[in-house]
Amino acid sequence: MQISDLYRNRPFGLSIEIFPPKTVKGDSSLLKNLERLAAFAPGFISCTYGAGGSTRDRTIEWCQTIQDRFERTATAHLTCVGSTREELTAWIERARAAKIRNIMALRGDTPVGLDSFEVPEGGLYHAIELVELIRSLFGDMGIGVAGYPEKHPEAPDAATDLANLQRKVDAGADAVFTQLFFVNDNFLEFRDRCVTAGIDVPIVPGIMPITEFSRIKRVTSMCGAMISPDLASRLETAQDDRKTQFEIGVNHAIQQCRELIRAGVPGIHFYVLNQSQACERVLASLDFDPGHRECA
Ligand code: FAD
Repeated sequence: MQISDLYRNRPFGLSIEIFPPKTVKGDSSLLKNLERLAAFAPGFISCTYGAGGSTRDRTIEWCQTIQDRFERTATAHLTCVGSTREELTAWIERARAAKIRNIMALRGDTPVGLDSFEVPEGGLYHAIELVELIRSLFGDMGIGVAGYPEKHPEAPDAATDLANLQRKVDAGADAVFTQLFFVNDNFLEFRDRCVTAGIDVPIVPGIMPITEFSRIKRVTSMCGAMISPDLASRLETAQDDRKTQFEIGVNHAIQQCRELIRAGVPGIHFYVLNQSQACERVLASLDFDPGHRECA
């Protein structure tokens, strides 16, 4: 299934994002968790591409596992970091040989220690160039791109960031998957601005159920996602009690998803950090029906 079909033909598109583990223990834990998540019949499961291309081969291997072992559609993430146009093309050809037909086309983060994004000779500066490359050479690929309800940290302002997003969509992206956020109003306002700007592909919210406050603090310090003072204070109060933190985080994600579904989102992209428990709880509470891919 291609990304565009997922939202065109179905009432609700569920997608789940994982990353390639670094250890054998991590591999076996992810296999168990994928088994449980695959039971919800997500439209696709995507696998990230490690910083600086560090998981180049593993991303394709995990996408193959998703397709062969769990019989779900896979989406491979790909970033421009550290690769020439020729290297990116060769990687996409390998992905296609592995029957992968969807790519999440990204620029990638500025590598740690550098002040700004650097490009090797013959490389690409922005995700839009990757979208253009894929569209020009492999017209049948499904393409997702990243969007930022709370603005990309490097963008000078929200309007510039939105104009850049629009260019990516005009270049041929099939859907926008957002950075994680915890304040729904920020997403809904972003969606309105996308519509006003004429962005007419599905805008899919990215949700990460909080399971541990310390972990989420690390994540938000990198991507800049806002946490409301009320949620932060409840998590802070429970900082010595992981079980309570988990409950607060899961209940917040359930509330976020319910509101977003009521607001008519085309689907939800879950950042599960290779775990299943929190996402399962959220999907169960939404009465997610894997057969029909609908949410109550
Ligand atoms: P771009 O779209 O290139 O945007 C980057 C910045 O440049 C923005 O500020 C934008 O406004 C600006 N810009 C864009 N186009 C232009 C232009 N033509 N001229 C001038 N400025 C421009 N990172 C990973 O390393 N691996 C992953 O697997 C991964 N998966 C992700 C999945 C999702 C759904 C999301 C939301 C993010 C993911 N990221 C991943 C993080 C992502 O790589 C970073 O957020 C990165 O800093 C920006 O990537 P981008 O594709 O949005 O870049």
